[in-house]
Amino acid sequence: MRIDLHTHSSKSDGTDTPSQLVEKAAAEGLDIVALTDHDATAGWAEAQATAERVGIGLVRGIEISTELQGRSVHLLGYEFDPENGPLVEELTRVRGGRDTRLPVMLERLAELGMELTVEDVARQSRNAAVSGRPHVADALVEKGYVATRTEAFDKYLGSNGPAYVPRYSADLFHAIELIVNAGGRTVVAHPWSRSSKLVLLPEVFADLAAAGLSGIEVDHNDHTTESRERLRKIAVDLDLAWTGSSDYHGTGKIDFELGCNTTDPAQFEKLFDGVRLAWRG
Ligand code: AMP
Ligand code: FE
Ligand code: FE
Ligand code: ZN
Repeated sequence: MRIDLHTHSSKSDGTDTPSQLVEKAAAEGLDIVALTDHDATAGWAEAQATAERVGIGLVRGIEISTELQGRSVHLLGYEFDPENGPLVEELTRVRGGRDTRLPVMLERLAELGMELTVEDVARQSRNAAVSGRPHVADALVEKGYVATRTEAFDKYLGSNGPAYVPRYSADLFHAIELIVNAGGRTVVAHPWSRSSKLVLLPEVFADLAAAGLSGIEVDHNDHTTESRERLRKIAVDLDLAWTGSSDYHGTGKIDFELGCNTTDPAQFEKLFDGVRLAWRG
C-alpha cells in the first residue's frame, strides 16, 4: 500500500494538470494520492473524475498559506467541505493577497532591469487558480533573464531576495479551526523546512494539537534524518498521526518525485478515522 498525501497540480504551481497527476500516480503504483494545491480546491473535480477512471484512491486536499509569529507555515487540509462559508471567505482573502502582491513584485523586478507584465505571468499560470512566485520565475525564464525557476528564487524571489514581497496569510490557529469546522483534518506541512522551523518549536505542537491539529508531515525531503526522528517522536507523544509525502510539483521542483516519501497505512487510518472517503464507500 503506497500513499502520497501532498502533491501540486497546474491549478497552483505544479506542472501537471490534475488529471495527468492522478494518471502518473496510478502509473507509479501509488494506491492513494492527495491533491493539495496551494490555497485552492479548483483541481478536485478533475482529479476525482480521473481517479475513478484509473482506479486509485484520491484524497481531496489543500495546502494553506498560514503564518505564526510572522513566519510562513504551510498547513495541509484534507476532506473538508469546500463550500463552508468562513473557510471560503478566508481562502478568497489569501488568494487575493497573491494577486495584489504580483504588480508590486513586477515593479521590483523592473527596478532591477527585468521588464515583465502581468500578462507575461498570466501566460505561465494560465490553468491556475492562484498566482505565485513560481509563475513569475517561469516568466523570467521565458524572457531569458534566468535559466531556471531555482535561479530565479536564488537571485530574486526568495524570501531574502531583492524582489521578494510578502503577502497575506491566514493565522495558523485560525486556519486549523476553519478546516476542523468544515469537517476536515489538518497536518502541518514540512514543519522544519527553513522558515517555519524557527517558530514551530517542539512545545508549540502541543498547542496546535489542542487547537485540533491531526498530524505532522514528518517524512519530507526538506527534513534531515535527525529532524524526521525528532518530529516522529513529537507526533507519537502527542497522539498525532505522522505522514510522509513527496510535495510533487511536476518539473517545477526537482527531486520531489511522486512517492519519494510515503505514508504508513496505519497512520493514514489514524488521520482519517471517522472521515468518509467517497472511493471507499
Ligand atoms: P508563493 O506561493 O508565491 O509564496 O511561492 C512559494 C512557492 O514557490 C512554494 O510553494 C514552492 O513551490 C516554490 N518555491 C519556493 N522556493 C523555491 C525555490 N528555491 N525554487 C523553486 N521553487 C521554490
Ligand atoms: Fe509550491
Ligand atoms: Fe509547502
Ligand atoms: Zn507543497
